[in-house]
Amino acid sequence: MKHGYEAMSTFIHGLKPGYLQLKKCSLALLLSTLANDTLAAASPESLAHAVMLRDRAMAGSTAMQIVTSLTTEVGPRLAGSEAEARARDWALALLNEKGFANVRNEPFEMDAWRRHAEGAEILAPFPQPLAVTALGGSVPTAKSGMTAELVLFETLDDLKRARPESVEGRIAYVSHAMQRTQDGSSYGYFNEARTAGPSIAAGKGAVGYLIRSVGTDSHRFPHTGSLRYDADAPRIPALALSNPDADQIERIAAGGEQIRIKMNVDSSAVPAAQSGNVIAEIPGRERPDEIVVIGAHLDSWDLGTGAVDDGAGVGITTAAMELIKEAGLAPRRTIRLVLWGAEEVGLLGARAYRERHAASLEQHVMGSESDFGGGRVWKVTADSKTEQGDQLFADIAAVLARIGVAPGSDDLPGGGPDLYPLIAAGVPTLRLHQDGRDYFDLHHTADDTVDKLDAASLDQNVAAFAVFAWLIADSHVSFRGVGASDP
Ligand code: ZN
Ligand code: ZN
Repeated sequence: MKHGYEAMSTFIHGLKPGYLQLKKCSLALLLSTLANDTLAAASPESLAHAVMLRDRAMAGSTAMQIVTSLTTEVGPRLAGSEAEARARDWALALLNEKGFANVRNEPFEMDAWRRHAEGAEILAPFPQPLAVTALGGSVPTAKSGMTAELVLFETLDDLKRARPESVEGRIAYVSHAMQRTQDGSSYGYFNEARTAGPSIAAGKGAVGYLIRSVGTDSHRFPHTGSLRYDADAPRIPALALSNPDADQIERIAAGGEQIRIKMNVDSSAVPAAQSGNVIAEIPGRERPDEIVVIGAHLDSWDLGTGAVDDGAGVGITTAAMELIKEAGLAPRRTIRLVLWGAEEVGLLGARAYRERHAASLEQHVMGSESDFGGGRVWKVTADSKTEQGDQLFADIAAVLARIGVAPGSDDLPGGGPDLYPLIAAGVPTLRLHQDGRDYFDLHHTADDTVDKLDAASLDQNVAAFAVFAWLIADSHVSFRGVGASDP
């Protein structure tokens, strides 16, 4: 059995879209597939470089060093804050120092939000303080706070179905307890209690809103995150309880006693605040106008230091770019790193990018964001609409198979939240699915700090990003179906 570089590239070279069915192949069929290499989407040289990038990343990348620097020297960096501006300065200095091309900030204006203070306590029947955090965007209470009786709902649907007379004048509590899944896919379902819940409650006359944190831990760290007020409902203050505090509320309520709560929020709106997307490139040697976008969001919530969300992604994607550059490789097309601003408060950086780059979105060949913490990649999917795209995807999957990444068959658009506005404009995406079983233990809490990250696992992510960004940027392949490229 041959091992190493040469054997791997020979093996990879012959793989076809039928790769997914490899397990079912007979040996004869496999050998004939390997013999016929004319359909391979990536050149042998390009594949050999991909294998080299993968192996170098696995031997150790700069990802951990980068996220440590960001979370130590900048710390928390709320969208539109002075701290987020310092993060942009940090990023510009780092990307220049690493020698990337076209390093720049693309600024945009936004309405920002500031947290000053918050608190909640049970006044009756069993007086005690509660561990809470204001939801991002929450309006303040009166200085003296707000006192009201609690009305409990097990799920958001229960609140939606509630008669207004049961909610009016009360603080609405919604449990909607998040469940742990490997791929984190339940977040979309559970976080609606946080994003949409406040206005649903206010529409029924609630004066305040309290949720069980959208998180899977059992620690006394409440999880923040954005809410989204509807234009036609009153804006009411909204807080999240840590999971043990939510348990406490539900235990007391199960005893049949009426619960009286006092809550206070001190926050302010900051109109016309500054944010920006920080960009760096490895210019394409043949088609610099064709772009593969990778990146992560630079802003974070204000409670922790934003290591898991999304310093990890900043480290992973920056280190992947660095690896390609350090190897002296010049891809056919441009690889563009975007460190997105103001993701947490509504993908504002992504929207600003889409507007600014509207004329060149058709030349965006592929996009992917790293925004799911530092867990290992276990699956790769891409929304390819062409046969060549399927072939190149099989090439990528074959290189990544060695580091525990399985090819997925679904072609649903994905690739990270900051890609959504680009997906809507027709940009194809590739998604590196990470193990997210622990992700929502830390997500948006004060416990999101750099000690939670594992360098080897970040390196595996770097390998995956470097391999696919390189192979796609160094190819001629289009993933867009006919008529699918209209921005
Ligand atoms: Zn994020
Ligand atoms: Zn987040």
